[in-house]
Amino acid sequence: AGGSLEIFERLKQLTEEAGMPVSVELKKEPHEEIAFKKSGCHGFCEMGPLLRIEPFGWLYVKVKPEDCEEILEKSLKGDEPVERLLFHQDGKAYAAEEEIPFYKKQTRIVLSNCGHTDAEAIEEYIARGGYQAVAKALFDMKTDDIVQEVMDSGLRGRGGGGFPTGRKLQQVAKQKEVRKFVVCNGDEGDPGAFMDRSIMEGDPHKMIEGMMIAGIATGAHEGYIYVRAEYPLAVKRLQTAIAAAEKQGLLGDNILDSGFDFTLRINQGAGAFVCGEGSALTASIEGNRGMPRVKPPRTVEQGLFGKPTVLSNVETYANIPMIILNGSDWFRSMGTENSPGTKAFALTGNVNNTGLIEVPMGTTLREVIFDIGGGIKNGKKFKAVQIGGPSGGCMTEEHLDMPMDFDSLKKKGAMIGSGGLVVMDEDNCMVEVARFFMNFTQNESCGKCVPCREGTLRMLEILERIVAGKGEREDLDMLEELADMISKTALCGLGKTAPSPVISTMKYFRDEYLAHVVDKK
Ligand code: SF4
Repeated sequence: AGGSLEIFERLKQLTEEAGMPVSVELKKEPHEEIAFKKSGCHGFCEMGPLLRIEPFGWLYVKVKPEDCEEILEKSLKGDEPVERLLFHQDGKAYAAEEEIPFYKKQTRIVLSNCGHTDAEAIEEYIARGGYQAVAKALFDMKTDDIVQEVMDSGLRGRGGGGFPTGRKLQQVAKQKEVRKFVVCNGDEGDPGAFMDRSIMEGDPHKMIEGMMIAGIATGAHEGYIYVRAEYPLAVKRLQTAIAAAEKQGLLGDNILDSGFDFTLRINQGAGAFVCGEGSALTASIEGNRGMPRVKPPRTVEQGLFGKPTVLSNVETYANIPMIILNGSDWFRSMGTENSPGTKAFALTGNVNNTGLIEVPMGTTLREVIFDIGGGIKNGKKFKAVQIGGPSGGCMTEEHLDMPMDFDSLKKKGAMIGSGGLVVMDEDNCMVEVARFFMNFTQNESCGKCVPCREGTLRMLEILERIVAGKGEREDLDMLEELADMISKTALCGLGKTAPSPVISTMKYFRDEYLAHVVDKK
């Protein structure tokens, strides 16, 4: 969308016209031969299209097709960076990508290959240590040891609730059923969230490898990746990755002559937000209408097709190979005691450097918004950040130094969710923000249970009235009453958390609600 492919073609064409050998894989010295690669997302979305020149590690930002001649002359034929295409901040030009403040404060482990390898070349993944964890799990570890390693790592599900992944593996492993499943939730639907999409597009093998290890650990031989059809590039790259892994003997029957079979299928979702909920997701794969059901039974006991199922999201699976390869202590060396590891966030809204970031758990909002994000756009004042999408809550100035981890956020009425961060400045109306998210959840309510189906609609009507300046003071009481009732009685997480943006904005910005009502009078 940003025009990267145009630049790719233009630069390649110019290089060929200049008589320089062009290849897919570099076999000679740089300058003697130029290899062009399409990578996954670098994460620095605000600055796209991006171009990285190896072996120098220079990152060019906001590249245009008309810049290609100069890039060819200076950087491909010569050894010189194009100064004006480097990232500049506070009067300083940054040549090396890793030195740019946006990247320097990050710890990219899940995203380590994104932006650096060709996502469609399995060889590049293997060259960077890919599939070694599967080999280790197959040949050097007992299934109990795999489960124990993941338990010891303290890895918690990156899709929302933060349930311990090792415990999930353990619960499925102990089921006596012969048929079990490993399912990956790639149905990322939060407004402003694109972490899982970037992993699927930029490094699909990492999550596939994580799913395989989950299969080895639990005795499951079949996996499904549920990915929304609105992510066509992710679907294509996953298909390519699965086909390549099958060809290499890394997927299918008798993997690496180990006697272990594992098949993987992709299921495209039609874009219903509720299908991100576990039981709705498995119902959708089964060919039924994607609606949540009452639990128990839990997914680990009776999930897909009524069989024991490991269900986790893309980022969670992508962490597993690294834990198996490097050990749980390595994983625990990042993050906090109860939330080890890193977390990918989609940083969006009124912040200077929007993009996809990965930081150790426990990093503060201030570091994320001001150090990595470069502060608020146009010198405006920070007001709030909506964290965790429509199910999350908003954090304000008083929370800027609070560590971002599962438990700290929960205590403050917010949640990491899948990792969306929408930053708002002093000009944003928080009632309008609450209305926006309520409109989203109301639209996405599957309608199965009354509190969510009717309750969110009533809340939306009230919020619309307030935003239009027609609200009354009693409306605020009614909003609180409805929020309390819906969060206590809705069937699934979508409904239970739908009032969260309203609850948190009313808590921290009640004056704005009152101003709308008072203004009317
Ligand atoms: Fe459907 Fe909402 Fe009830 Fe969930 S809470 S089952 S989305 S109506």
